[in-house]
Amino acid sequence: LNVVRCFFLVLFALPACATTWPGDPEIGGLALEIQLPQGNADWPLHADLKPRILRTTEIAADYWGLPLAAVSGWRLVLTEGLLKCGSNTMANGCTTDEDHSITLSANYCICIESSALLHEIGHVAIGDPPHSDPRWHDRERMGQRWKEAHEGLSDCGGEPYYGQWEGHR
Ligand SMILES: [Zn+2]
Repeated sequence: LNVVRCFFLVLFALPACATTWPGDPEIGGLALEIQLPQGNADWPLHADLKPRILRTTEIAADYWGLPLAAVSGWRLVLTEGLLKCGSNTMANGCTTDEDHSITLSANYCICIESSALLHEIGHVAIGDPPHSDPRWHDRERMGQRWKEAHEGLSDCGGEPYYGQWEGHR
């Protein structure tokens, strides 16, 4: 519900919502923060990270029918370890409306394209923590986007889609 209110503000009073974090125009206005306390994940340190975040975010925003501009001002945190997200204490991604943050656990995937980013952008787009919207469970359409995101990648291509972006009911 907070997300819905936020979008109302994005549409009609941009500064009230979208300026929470100083966004990086190279990645659609997301504010990237890399925190790797365990040093187990190294892909967030690769030089091609930003264009790949942008491309994956574009694919995700398109899946959810969200204009790319709507992620502007959100913080994207790449960290390590399991996350506590609402009642889930073992999440690999979490989106929190109060602080406009998407947090991804980088050591549970080998590249941004395999991370929970597409899933989390869904929470930015529609909120819906219980994953009741059918798009959370559309394995065929999500699988197509997975394939599109991984196409031509040498470091994480060929990884099959088996529901990594789907929401738990
Ligand atoms: Zn979720």
